[in-house]
Amino acid sequence: MVHAPERPDPGAPPVRINLYSDTQTRPTPAMKEAMMRAEVGDEQHGDDPTVHALCDRMAALTGKEAAVFLPSGTMCNIIATLTHCRPGDEILAHETAHILTSEGGGHAALGGVQITPLRGPRGMFTAEEVRAAIRPRRRHAPPQTLLEVEQTSNLGGGAVWPKAQLDAVAAVAKEHGLATHMDGARLMNACVASGIAPAEMAAGWDSVWLDFTKGLGAPLGAVLCGTAEFIDAAWRWKQRLGGAMRQAGICAAACLYALDHHVDRLAEDHANAKAFARGLRQIPGIEVVEPDTNLVYFDPSGAGVSAPELVRALRMRGIQISLLGGRIRGCTHLDVTAAMVEEALDVIREVLAERG
Ligand SMILES: *Cc1c(COP(=O)(O)O)cnc(C)c1O
Repeated sequence: MVHAPERPDPGAPPVRINLYSDTQTRPTPAMKEAMMRAEVGDEQHGDDPTVHALCDRMAALTGKEAAVFLPSGTMCNIIATLTHCRPGDEILAHETAHILTSEGGGHAALGGVQITPLRGPRGMFTAEEVRAAIRPRRRHAPPQTLLEVEQTSNLGGGAVWPKAQLDAVAAVAKEHGLATHMDGARLMNACVASGIAPAEMAAGWDSVWLDFTKGLGAPLGAVLCGTAEFIDAAWRWKQRLGGAMRQAGICAAACLYALDHHVDRLAEDHANAKAFARGLRQIPGIEVVEPDTNLVYFDPSGAGVSAPELVRALRMRGIQISLLGGRIRGCTHLDVTAAMVEEALDVIREVLAERG
């Protein structure tokens, strides 16, 4: 099977420590209670008060005029592309961007756009790199209409774009008539880590979205924000793609709960990630990227075990962790405690010791 996700291996023990992804958090009992109490209506008809409350709150939080509730972050990205661009247009994004590597080619398949990869360390690029990628507007060249960034950069190691660098790349885009889109899947991680408010972070960006199913711990939902005109146009694509929902307030209530209770605590995830990185670095041969937020990328091959072998060995000991681009990614979140991080480090040391 290539397309359907694999079912869990029946031979593997239950997962005790889940460092696989912040998408794997389970809704807490208090979040479920908030969902049960939610006032709901037909979202597709504009009748769901809880969805309205969430969208109003997100528009205010990101400093935009309006917002729309969508089932996933991937749908936020594709709807932003469909709204900002026309078929034949070109998007500039980092070579590791989720829209380029991880959305099934949807931007080309559905939007007819091409994505030109920009390079730079940790998922980021500079204003000079954007300037160098911009071509004079001629009929031979594809119209360059959108610049996209990820805050934080996922494959860049959860790296937080410095605000000045974000502003600088957005300014170059504006200077050349490109729209700007921020993939804020983990925007609140960036804001908590840097102490910069979301509205300030997203100030140079025409559209921005936040995923509630990453570190914020909701079961479903993402909110895309922008001008009233942009969100109005985005609604047509939401309808076309089947993203218009019904009693979605049940899920919006979980997102509102997450905004109230799960944002400040992201600092704990960041501290746990730093502790995990510190422990890994003390193991001879393991190469670790210092985390800005909740993602810890490391390569154990210098310690005598390949990344896939270590992932498998950990899984057989009840620890789930992911393999991404030949490296291991450990992710801290709501369901990972400091004690679990220490235990994971112990188990990694054990596995390495057994291999001599
Ligand atoms: C997870 C993720 C997405 C996609 O979000 P889904 O809710 O899983 O569709 C997009 N961009 C980045 C950077 C992500 O980490």
